[in-house]
Amino acid sequence: NKQVILRDYVTGFPKESDMELRTDTTTLKLPQGSTGVLVKNLYLSCDPYMKNRMTKRETASYVETFHPGSPITGFGVAKVLESGDAKFEQGDLIWGITGWEEYSLITATQSLFKIHHDPNIPLSYYTGILGMPGITAYAGLYELCSPKKGETVYVSAASGAVGQLVGQFAKLMGCYVVGSAGSKEKVDLLKNKFGFDEAFNYKEESNLDAALKRYFPEGIDIYFENVGGKMLDAVLLNMRFRGRIAVCGMISQYNLEKPEGVHNLMSLISKEVRMQGFVAFNYYHLYGKFLEMVLPHIKEGKVMYVEDVVEGLESAPSALVGLFAGRNVGKQVVVVSRE
Ligand code: NDP
Repeated sequence: NKQVILRDYVTGFPKESDMELRTDTTTLKLPQGSTGVLVKNLYLSCDPYMKNRMTKRETASYVETFHPGSPITGFGVAKVLESGDAKFEQGDLIWGITGWEEYSLITATQSLFKIHHDPNIPLSYYTGILGMPGITAYAGLYELCSPKKGETVYVSAASGAVGQLVGQFAKLMGCYVVGSAGSKEKVDLLKNKFGFDEAFNYKEESNLDAALKRYFPEGIDIYFENVGGKMLDAVLLNMRFRGRIAVCGMISQYNLEKPEGVHNLMSLISKEVRMQGFVAFNYYHLYGKFLEMVLPHIKEGKVMYVEDVVEGLESAPSALVGLFAGRNVGKQVVVVSRE
């Protein structure tokens, strides 16, 4: 069983050498009486929050740390080989938390979803648009921000797993949507593939406040926050009266020893802006409703999804590290096995 192991706790930016590939020769079998499942992993998801799990923390967080010396765990798509849980049977496809290894014994089956696979839809989508990032985009935009036709929406890290969906969902609502991303290729995708009204490369803007004023002369009604730091400060200066900010993530801060300060929070007061954080797994109850909305859009080609797919478990460490340098173009997926 090939596995990706966390060598030791990580400080600062994660590196490939923080992880290693190992082969475990013990035969995996579902223990007698177990209510877990034995699965073959097919697709693994690289997600920014995983850095948080690689870091030793004194304070509590909503995610547990990984254990050095053990395989990394994260979202993935897998096939059930043996099941002690009545909800699953041999041959079922599932998505949820699994291990970065070829085969996993999963005891926490309450976090697994059964996939009703449509062969016209890539199975890997369950690491992205049809999995956790999809629910994140849906909950953050619809539940927290209640977008209305004609409102102005700004999305940062807009070409990523979550951002590309937020922009497209906001367009479906009839909003004016602008996204920012870190390369020309990503900006082109936003405008030409995902149908954003405008997009810009934030790395080329020396003054983010001026850039936002250029695209939002009347201000921003909804900001979907993925990056934090200087971007958030610039956005705060450009929010409209009763604007909403969904704080999904702050990737620019995850690897800093000390997060940067935010200076413009006072503008929340006079403009009565609501800023709210959220965690995807508190919205899993909406998953059925979300699938009902998104599956027809995928089939009709109204919502597109771009993935950055790398082959083989051995490519996983580099793919994960790449998120923090913006190397991924779209949702970062690792193929362990296609069947
Ligand atoms: P992405 O697919 O967008 O990948 C991360 C991207 O972030 C990179 O490609 C890069 O894009 C950008 N990035 C990296 N470093 C920086 C930096 N220093 N400053 C600005 N941008 C940077 O990831 P996801 O879509 O999976 O996640 C997006 C955000 O949503 C993250 O903050 C993540 O933590 C958060 N999240 C939160 C969830 C929740 O439950 N609250 C659930 C899922 C995700 P670029 O080239 O454009 O810079």
